[in-house]
Amino acid sequence: MSASSDAQLTAMVSRYEDLRVVSGPRSGAMIAIAVHSTALGPALGGARMWHYDSAAHGVEDALRLARAMTYKAAAAGLDLGGGKGVICAPTPERPLGELRRRMLLDFGDAVESLAGRYVTAEDVGTGAADMVTIAERTAHVVGLPMECGGRGDPGPLTARGVLAAIGACLEHRFGDASVSGVRICVVGAGSVGGRLARMLAEAGAELTISDIDPARRALAEALGATWVDPQEAIGADCDVLAPCALGGAIDAATLARLRCQIVCGAANNVLADEQLAGAVAERGILFAPDFIANAGGLINVYAELRDLDDDVVLRLVDRIGPTMRRILEAADRRGVTPLAAAQEGALERLRTASVAAA
Ligand code: NAD
Repeated sequence: MSASSDAQLTAMVSRYEDLRVVSGPRSGAMIAIAVHSTALGPALGGARMWHYDSAAHGVEDALRLARAMTYKAAAAGLDLGGGKGVICAPTPERPLGELRRRMLLDFGDAVESLAGRYVTAEDVGTGAADMVTIAERTAHVVGLPMECGGRGDPGPLTARGVLAAIGACLEHRFGDASVSGVRICVVGAGSVGGRLARMLAEAGAELTISDIDPARRALAEALGATWVDPQEAIGADCDVLAPCALGGAIDAATLARLRCQIVCGAANNVLADEQLAGAVAERGILFAPDFIANAGGLINVYAELRDLDDDVVLRLVDRIGPTMRRILEAADRRGVTPLAAAQEGALERLRTASVAAA
C-alpha cells in the first residue's frame, strides 16, 4: 500500500466531518478516529487494532473505512452515520496485557472526546472483551458481551441477511427466490459462512463448502455438502458463489476463473478494487454489493445502541432481501452495476437528510 501525498490526504480529509489523530498518553500508540458523516445519526464504526507501515497508512485506513460505514448504514435504512477508529499496534504481534489495556483506555478517551458523534464497536483485531475495557472511559461503545448488556455474536443475524440477499439475487436472475436445488458454494465456513451453510442445507440447496481450516470439513460432511480446496473454490462451477472469508477474493486474476452466475456473500470488500464491478457484469455475472448483503452485523450493534426489541431487529434484517431486489432493479433500469446503484441509493438518502437538516 502506498501512502497518499500530503496534498491527497488533505483533500481526502476535507470531505470528512472530523478526524482526530492522537498519540495515546498511556501507551504512545497512534490513534485515529475518522467521522465521515453524522447526517443520519451518530457515526458508528469499529475499532481496528492493526500494525501499519506508517501512521499515514493508519489514518488512510480510518478515512476509507469510515466512508464505507456511511454507505452501509444509509443503504440499510439505519439512522446512523459512518465512522471508524484505528489503534496502531507497535509490532505485527497482537498487543497483550498491560500494553493492550493502555491502548484501549487511550482509545476510549479519544472516543469520549467526540462526545457521542462517534460510537465504537469491535473490528479486526478487537473483540467484545476489549469493548469492556474501552467502556471504562466512554459510554459510546457497543458490541459488549451479553453479560454486559450487549447482544452477543452477530454471525447468526448476518447469515440470515445474506440468505435473504441470495434469495433476492436468485429471483432477479432466475425468477424464483428459492434456494432448493440451487448449486451454492460457500467459501469460508466460519461464524457467518458456517451458519449460512446450515441454513442453505436445510432449505435444500446443492451445497459446496470450502475453508482453509481443514477442521471445517466435518461441517461439509455433516451437511452432506461437497468439499472443495480453497485454491479451487473461486472457480467452482455453481449458480451462487458466497464469499464468506476475507475481502479481496475477486481480483483481476481470479475474475477470469469465476464460473458462477451470482456472487453474494458476507465478506466485506469482495472486490479487490471497486472498478472490477464493471468487468464482473461484462462476464454476465450478477455481483450483489456486499455492504447490502452483510448489513446484519451492523444491525446487531445498532439494535444494542437503540435498545431495539428482537422482533424489530429481525424486521430490519429481513428488509435486506427487498432492498437488494430494489437495487438490482434500479441497476437494470439505469444500465449501471448493482454496486453503483447501491452507492447512488445511499447517497440519495444522505442528500435528502442534509436538505431536511438545512
Ligand atoms: P470467521 O473468522 O468466523 O470465519 C472466516 C472463515 O474463513 C474461517 O473459517 C477461515 O478459516 C476461513 N478462511 C479464511 N481465508 C480463507 C480462504 N482464503 N479460503 C477459504 N476460507 C478461508 O469470520 P466471520 O465472522 O464469519 O466473517 C466472515 C466475513 O464476513 C469477513 O469478511 C467479515 O468481515 C464479514 N462480515 C462478518 C460479519 C459478522 O457478523 N461476523 C458481519 C459483516 C461482515
